[in-house]
Amino acid sequence: MKLVDFCYQKRGIKDWGQVFNSPRPISLETFTTGTVRINRRGTLNPEHPRALKLEEEDLEVPILSYRVHHHRGDYLLDTGLDASYHQDPQGGLTGSEVDVFHQSKGENIACYLKARKLSLNGVFFSHLHADHAAGQRELSNTIPYMVAKGEYDHYHPEIHGDFLEGLEVLHEIDFSRADDIPPLGPSVDLLGDGSLWAISTPGHTRGHLSFLLNGYEGPVFLAMDAAFIYENLEMEVAPSDYTWDVEMAQESLEKIISFLEEYPRVRVLVGHEV
Ligand SMILES: [Zn+2]
Repeated sequence: MKLVDFCYQKRGIKDWGQVFNSPRPISLETFTTGTVRINRRGTLNPEHPRALKLEEEDLEVPILSYRVHHHRGDYLLDTGLDASYHQDPQGGLTGSEVDVFHQSKGENIACYLKARKLSLNGVFFSHLHADHAAGQRELSNTIPYMVAKGEYDHYHPEIHGDFLEGLEVLHEIDFSRADDIPPLGPSVDLLGDGSLWAISTPGHTRGHLSFLLNGYEGPVFLAMDAAFIYENLEMEVAPSDYTWDVEMAQESLEKIISFLEEYPRVRVLVGHEV
C-alpha cells in the first residue's frame, strides 16, 4: 500500500459563520448496510461521573454509509458493509476479536449504488473499523480512498480485516497544515468549494474524522463515531467501547458540543442512530 498526501488548499477561514454564509449545492443520503449490537454501558463511558449509574442494556443499532452528491460527482462517507455479512456475521474474517454484524439481503453498499446507477468519485473514511470500511471489498479499487494521516498506521488486518487489500494507494489527509476553525479546530475543505469539510476528532481512533456538509438546506454535522448515539451528546459523555483513547474521545465530543451550542442551526447526525 502506497500512502500519498491528499491535496487540498488551506482556505484562511476563521469562523464557521463565514462558511455557512456561502452554502453550496450538496446533498446527503443515508444507507443502512446492516446492524450491530452494542451495550449502553460502554456506548456511554461508565467511568464518567455523569454515567456512573448506567445499566447494562443491549442496543441494536444501524451500520451507516452516507452518499454525498455534488456537481463534481458522488462520494461516500464510509462504506458500511459489503454483501459477505449477509451469509456470515463475521464477514469472512476469523478470530476472537472479529466483530459480528447482522445484514438483511440487499442491504450491502454495492446494492444501494447499483440501484441508483451510481459510480463513485471517491470515498472518505471517518476511520477504519470494520463497520465503516468493510464495504470497500465490493467497490472499485481505482477510485481514491481517503483517511486522516495516522489512521492507517494503526490498522491491523488480523483484527480490522482485509478491507483495503485490493488498494494500491491510500490518500492521507494531513491536518497539521489545515485551517484551524474554532471551536472544532483542524478542518479541511475536501472539495475546495466550502461544501464538505473533514474535521479532526481523534480519540475513538487515532485519526478519527467527523464531517460537515454545508448545503442549501442548512449545515449538517456528521459526528460519525465521536458520538455513537444521540445520548452521547445529551449526557455529554463519550463512548468508551471500541475506543483508542477515552480521554481524547471525551475532548473531541466536548468540542463538538461547544460547536453545536455556538451554531444552533446546525443539524447533527451521530454514528449509529438515525
Ligand atoms: Zn468505530
